[in-house]
Amino acid sequence: MNKMTLDVKTSSRTQFLDITGKVSKAVESSGVEEGICYLFVPHTTAGLTINENADPDVVRDMLIGFDSIAPQQGDYLHSEGNSPAHIKSSIMGQQKTVLIEGGKPVLGTWQGIYFCEFDGPRQRKLIIKVAKT
Ligand code: ZN
Repeated sequence: MNKMTLDVKTSSRTQFLDITGKVSKAVESSGVEEGICYLFVPHTTAGLTINENADPDVVRDMLIGFDSIAPQQGDYLHSEGNSPAHIKSSIMGQQKTVLIEGGKPVLGTWQGIYFCEFDGPRQRKLIIKVAKT
């Protein structure tokens, strides 16, 4: 078992940060060739997704889509003023599991792993656990 906590710095209020390289490095440093990589975001206004990393317009369109689901202005009561971020975080979820084969995360040709910031910019954490199977 290998557990790591990585620092993730986001630079806008809402942002999908491609962390595929960071995750690949973490898997590589674990030395696990065949196994499972578990990713967890310990935050209530951020999340994780695996989606297209070829055309940047996809991420842009997803952010627009999320804004239409939970607009910045609305009939919210939460005094912190970041209810849309909590909603988006819950929709996206805080965890992902990726298989490891040949010492690398198994991803489709067009897939990347994204840290989803919904209330940035902030200094965030990403917990990674790599296990041999
Ligand atoms: Zn809040």
